[in-house]
Amino acid sequence: MSKISLTVVNAETATFDCSFGRGCEGLCCKNGRPSVTAAEVSTIKQNIAMFLPHMRPEAVKMVKKVGWLGARKKVGLPMLRVSGGWCIFFNAGCVLHKVGAAEGDFSKYKPIQCSLFPLEPNGDGTWYVRQWNYNGEGWDIFCLNPKNTPLKAVETLAPEIAVAEELGPKFDWGKAPQRKNIVKKPATTPRKKPTPT
Ligand code: SF4
Repeated sequence: MSKISLTVVNAETATFDCSFGRGCEGLCCKNGRPSVTAAEVSTIKQNIAMFLPHMRPEAVKMVKKVGWLGARKKVGLPMLRVSGGWCIFFNAGCVLHKVGAAEGDFSKYKPIQCSLFPLEPNGDGTWYVRQWNYNGEGWDIFCLNPKNTPLKAVETLAPEIAVAEELGPKFDWGKAPQRKNIVKKPATTPRKKPTPT
């Protein structure tokens, strides 16, 4: 296991194996409404023309009619809209992930909530991996079942951990500092969403 600077309090027991494209159709983006920071809103706004050609026709229609940002808020931040039961940026994978990965960084345009999933900050500088029956987890998505895989989450979540390490120990939802330098990570499979909505 490569050395990580992050303290993951359930590192010994947490397992995770994203099976998007290997049996999972992208459940974490179904009805996905990740919240987005002001900087993320600005980034998506500036680049929306680049994303539109990759989006579902009904999502494009929605963007043109009412925009991609909803009126609802979570952790004090606005959330992306849902179109046809899926996050507006989902199209057989995350469009924001796909476009960023093609440029060498999957997290370049993707909301931080999605780039971190299933990592969560404890608010005291430590982190944990979301798992069934752990810390009041309320989402029954199968990949959070520790029995789903024997693979240790701290091994499989290297790109997500790299994002968390860059955010630093003071990171918490709703008071997210901006990333200083977006880490260049290898392109990975399009996926992800944070908390269930
Ligand atoms: S990973 Fe992409 S498609 Fe999925 S919820 Fe997040 S922004 Fe939407």
